[in-house]
Amino acid sequence: MKEHVMHGLRVHIHKDMCCGFGNCATVCPAVFQLDHETNRVKCVDCAPIDVHADAVARAADECPAQAISLLIADAAP
Ligand code: SF4
Repeated sequence: MKEHVMHGLRVHIHKDMCCGFGNCATVCPAVFQLDHETNRVKCVDCAPIDVHADAVARAADECPAQAISLLIADAAP
């Protein structure tokens, strides 16, 4: 599982659950990108997750494998 944190939002991609259909990359290409070598999705490096929070949430909702979790990150210590 890979985790990306940006401005209070945390995205988990459960790669073992990802089927590689790419719905998330279609819904939110600024954050999700299909890795054609592994046929799994990955987060775009330095993706502005907070700016695309609505699209990220929609991508998580529309993932047929429920492989994306979107959480509110804890406040920094
Ligand atoms: S929508 Fe879900 S199953 Fe499809 S590529 Fe994205 S994370 Fe993987």
